Amino acid sequence: MNIKNYINGEFVDPVLGNYIDNYNPSNGEVYGQIPNSTSEDVEKAYEAAEKAFPNWSNTTLETRSKILSKIADLIEGKLHLLAEAESKDNGKPISLAKAIDIPRAAANFQFYANAITQFSSEAHESIGLNAVNFTLRQPIGVVGCISPWNLPLYLFTWKIAPAIAAGNCVVAKPSEITPMTAFLLGEICTEAGLPNGVLNIVHGLGTTTGQAIVAHPNITAISFTGGTKTGASIARIAAPMFKKLSLELGGKNPNIIFADCDYDKMLETTVRSSFANQGQICLCGSRIFVEEKIYEKFKKDFIKNVKQLKVGHPSKRNIDIGALVSKEHLEKIESYVEIAEDEGGRILCGGLEVTIPGYENGYYFQPTVIEVTDNSCRVNQEEIFGPIVTIMPFKTDEEALQLANDVKYGLSATLWTNNLNRTMQFSKQLHIGIVWVNTWMLRDLRTPFGGQKASGIGREGGFEALRFFTEPKNICIKYE
Ligand code: NDP
Repeated sequence: MNIKNYINGEFVDPVLGNYIDNYNPSNGEVYGQIPNSTSEDVEKAYEAAEKAFPNWSNTTLETRSKILSKIADLIEGKLHLLAEAESKDNGKPISLAKAIDIPRAAANFQFYANAITQFSSEAHESIGLNAVNFTLRQPIGVVGCISPWNLPLYLFTWKIAPAIAAGNCVVAKPSEITPMTAFLLGEICTEAGLPNGVLNIVHGLGTTTGQAIVAHPNITAISFTGGTKTGASIARIAAPMFKKLSLELGGKNPNIIFADCDYDKMLETTVRSSFANQGQICLCGSRIFVEEKIYEKFKKDFIKNVKQLKVGHPSKRNIDIGALVSKEHLEKIESYVEIAEDEGGRILCGGLEVTIPGYENGYYFQPTVIEVTDNSCRVNQEEIFGPIVTIMPFKTDEEALQLANDVKYGLSATLWTNNLNRTMQFSKQLHIGIVWVNTWMLRDLRTPFGGQKASGIGREGGFEALRFFTEPKNICIKYE
């Protein structure tokens, strides 16, 4: 199926007429084409957004809220269609897309439909000076939203929903590897009555289409989720132009397991936090540190459970792990097994490509557990972003904390313990944005989401996103 750009409420071909192939990772076949958009297409999208901005930014909150709710309802109503499209494009199990990705995309719109009606700013009475200050929170104008392939519609809408709720108009680009549900979102927005030009979706390569959005002089805020290297290159372009930037980047998250935890719950969750979505979630706990007392038991039980995970075609029931997103990504994952072996890591299970009968050209890989002895090895320091985790024992709290923090990333951590003091000490001293204690990926959309260090700058979620997508302006009124 060929998809088109969504500009000013219409589906249009790219200006230069060039397309790129879209692959189905479950069988390695090309199943459609997407526009290879250039700066000319981004300019058209910008012009549509700029034209729509005066009206949209003056639309009442009730109207905006109703339209966002309607988009949420329509996404829910198209659950099967969207989940199938997501699974085909990304390789993730269809059951996962149905249970997580698509409901969350609907929830993103519903959440900001409600949040915008509750968003307010502060007033400061300057007592003794006969003055009152109040802050206006005004939409920025035309903003850029760029998202990755791992949770395609989930992360695309996580940016778009707050941006338009706050009164901005958007030029958005999904990953070129997973464009399908973004394309379907265009139809949904039109059906929901979103005025033309409020959301414009331009498809294409990161280094051309994405970069054209970032470099556009009048797109003055960029919300980006993706790799750390890409984030740095975006920052290099955006910083001298003084653009507002929200960067949600890579992670290499520690999963710290103490002997006093609820063992069964920990074990079950750790299998999930290691391999959900083929390990392609920025929040996956890819470095597992286990207290020495229970290390051998954990190793045995974990490997037994991991070996039971079924790799298979994403459309099949009862599979746990689908296809990796692309051939390049599969090759990257494989290369890390070699790197681990060269560094003295022990492959405890997995480590090989999987061939699924009937889908021999698909991109399947075994869930892989590697035992390491030194946190400075590359498999513990570099983001692999696939079905590979490492395990390593520790003796003391101090050592665990040091290992957890000894990495350039700082997105999230999971802590398994029933000791309250330890929970608080770790929560305060981990250099990261999100700590889960005795759980993983339990999301409340009101909370600030994001990381420290090489995991990015800024926070998404809740009112944080509405603050990002608005410009605060202070008004000081003197009275007699
Ligand atoms: P990339 O950084 O390669 O791409 C992300 C998006 O940016 C894609 O739409 C991509 O387009 C686009 N892009 C690529 N180069 C540029 C550029 N120079 N200028 C502007 N846009 C560009 O990341 P991946 O898609 O590979 O996603 C995986 C990464 O995302 C991992 O590092 C993961 O940790 C991170 N991530 C972070 C999350 C967080 O919340 N912190 C959540 C989820 C993922 P195209 O794909 O077409 O090249």
